[in-house]
Amino acid sequence: MKIGVLALQGAVREHLKHIELSGHEGIAIKHVEQLEEIDGLILPGGESTTLRRLMNLYGFKEALQQSELPMFGTCAGLIVMAKDIVGEEGYLNKLDITVQRNSFGRQVDSFESHLNITGIAEDIEGVFIRAPHIAQVHGNATILSSVGEKIVAVQEGRYLGVSFHPELTEDYRVTQYFIEHIVAKATIEQV
Ligand code: GLN
Repeated sequence: MKIGVLALQGAVREHLKHIELSGHEGIAIKHVEQLEEIDGLILPGGESTTLRRLMNLYGFKEALQQSELPMFGTCAGLIVMAKDIVGEEGYLNKLDITVQRNSFGRQVDSFESHLNITGIAEDIEGVFIRAPHIAQVHGNATILSSVGEKIVAVQEGRYLGVSFHPELTEDYRVTQYFIEHIVAKATIEQV
């Protein structure tokens, strides 16, 4: 399958590597026209205010709001996919969740935690960098993983969102799950 990585900001190369390790073709997406070429899209982490500004500038907001492409957001990518952001307006409105930005406090700017992710694996290493958490899950969004009380992974149909950075470890199973379960299923449904 062909999987795009939105290449406006963030760890694009690392995501492309995980796509290739999963046995699929990764494409850096810089223009909305390229969305036609792909079966699924990864929205990387970075800084969500900057990411939104760049997405506005290059026309990705409208294009992705109208798109049916399966999407996987990590960290800032999760924030832009949410319907609701605490204190701000939601952006792409793909995941029916409320996210809270920078929610793990200053002292724990960055940390790692072992995660049990439903349907993926029980031993995923989560790298959290000024990470958001999912404060509320609504409608059909389901919780896949939490750290203590804080939800850090959700899925709603063809949309997957995580608070952490799976691309910063060698373990590509979360990306592989997105491609082989979510994108593959959405592709079959379209035929
Ligand atoms: N703190 C960033 C934000 O709120 C997200 C951090 C990240 O993507 N690693 O946009």
